[in-house]
Amino acid sequence: MLPERSQEQEIEYLRAELDSISRKAARSEVIAQSLRDTQHRLDLHISKFARMHDYAQRAFSAKDTQTLHTTIAEGIIDIFQLEAAALFEINFADQQLILLNGLNLETEETVFTLDPEEWKSQGFAGYLLSPKPQAYCESPVTAKIWAEMGLSHVIVMPALNNRQKINGLILGGISETNKDFYDFLPQELTSPFMVYCQQMYGIMGLFEAVDQANQAAHAKSRFFANLSHEIRTPMNAIIGMTQIAERSDDPEEINRCIKQINTSSKHLLSLINDVLDISKIEDGKFNLARNAFDLRQLAESIRNSMIQFAQNKSQTFDVDFHYPNNLRLIGDDMRLSQVLLNLLNNAIKFTPENGSVKLDISEFSQDHDSVTLQFAVTDTGIGIAPELRERIFKPFEQADNTISRNYGGTGLGLAISQHIVGLMGGFIRVESTPGKGSRFAFSVRFEKDNSLPQKKNEQQIKKEHADFSGYKILVADDVKINRLIICSLLKDTHITIEEAENGKEALEKIQNSPAGYYLLVLMDMQMPVMDGCTATRMIRASQHPDAKILPIIAMTANVFKEDVQEVLDAGMNGHIGKPVDIQIVLDTIKKSIKKYPAKKIF
Ligand code: ADP
Repeated sequence: MLPERSQEQEIEYLRAELDSISRKAARSEVIAQSLRDTQHRLDLHISKFARMHDYAQRAFSAKDTQTLHTTIAEGIIDIFQLEAAALFEINFADQQLILLNGLNLETEETVFTLDPEEWKSQGFAGYLLSPKPQAYCESPVTAKIWAEMGLSHVIVMPALNNRQKINGLILGGISETNKDFYDFLPQELTSPFMVYCQQMYGIMGLFEAVDQANQAAHAKSRFFANLSHEIRTPMNAIIGMTQIAERSDDPEEINRCIKQINTSSKHLLSLINDVLDISKIEDGKFNLARNAFDLRQLAESIRNSMIQFAQNKSQTFDVDFHYPNNLRLIGDDMRLSQVLLNLLNNAIKFTPENGSVKLDISEFSQDHDSVTLQFAVTDTGIGIAPELRERIFKPFEQADNTISRNYGGTGLGLAISQHIVGLMGGFIRVESTPGKGSRFAFSVRFEKDNSLPQKKNEQQIKKEHADFSGYKILVADDVKINRLIICSLLKDTHITIEEAENGKEALEKIQNSPAGYYLLVLMDMQMPVMDGCTATRMIRASQHPDAKILPIIAMTANVFKEDVQEVLDAGMNGHIGKPVDIQIVLDTIKKSIKKYPAKKIF
């Protein structure tokens, strides 16, 4: 049994109990207060987030970029209880902060230039480029700018794009004069401000994407209008010259007309090729070939094809070649020519009469296996304004809307050229002074062709006369003029040509012919009664002894990659695009003869 406590002990005990209870009560009061504080802060946060949500919705439905920016700035002042707000774009090339929109700022300036030296010495570049968003901006360099804007305390949130590069800033701030009226506690503002800015950068990104899509759509529709004009010009010359030639008895005049028709048709074809190239690029199907070639020959042929255009405008035209004569290279000579011709064409086009245009080809470096060459096209033409130099390399874009009116063109050449040079491992750079001239330059590394020079070059082989007498081919095409063209082009080879007006007629002719009768079939795709692919499938499925082995080559104006795939899927052996390159037809026939020499039937 416990001994009974005396009265005094009892009182002592109760006092101790009372003390403990009152200490607990005091602690509970502190906890309750802290809970009330937390609750209050939570309420503030909740109401901040609710207001952020309202502003995000308002920003989302803004009718234009200007309204969007104003809404974002209003949100900063309202939600974060600050005095002023601003949105900036950063232009690293010119070290500039460009004010997109600002509320309650004292400044009239919209562009703030940051002295690059000061920028570096203050570590501003490092500060801004840090991938971690910074909340409270203390950089003295930017502080100078905030001071110019009438602000002394600011909270800044950089926008990081997906390459972790800062391309914008949003800030909220207060001025020195009014700082006592505001609770500027960066440590409390940081998290919600970051959330708000990230939300808004997201919405700004969406606006930008929509804007870009609209611009691209606009550029494309302008492009189609230009294209239609560009096609009509040579078409007009072709039709006009044909009519003159038809009515004329003067052989000289007829000859002049034919020359003009030839030039205009080539121009038309190069336009169509540009459109095809761009569509290949957009499909990611643009590839380079690998041939051995002689750079001097390439430079000379470029010189020969351009000199006349330059002379027509009384321009001085030079090709400067600083490169050893005897070296051959490996690469895509056709595509390299395409780039140089495009740059020279532009240089001549955008240079007034009596100006000068020059192509420089020089060796940059070389070792045993490779050589790096620099190509530069310089002109004394109209030049390009600095802000347009990036845009002209985009497909369908020209420097401005007056260009197509004054000079024609479709705005595809530079986009294609930049892509080709990119595939070769280079990059076209432009330097230009408006009114004085431009220089387009790029460097590319080529493998050297160290093998012994071939005895006979391809040109010589091509010039050898082809004699296909004794062989017979079938040409299936519904358009009489197309059949006529192929017959005329092959006339000198003495090959025998039979004709069919559609796929069904071709099928019947083959079914009724003895084995080995035709060397090959040139088959159009789109024909009435029966198209080329259906005819091919039926030929392949027939009982004819040649059904499986007869070479059938599509000869068609359908030249997209899907068309090539379609003819191959139908069982054809190859594809020749129209307008027909006679050399390709001759090579195709030669290949068939090599494969089936016994088909000589008379
Ligand atoms: P196009 O010549 O068909 O318009 P390009 O893509 O070759 O298309 O050129 C795009 C634009 O770049 C031209 O419309 C022109 O505004 C500008 N440009 C290209 N080369 C030059 C140059 N040498 N001088 C001035 N402007 C040029």
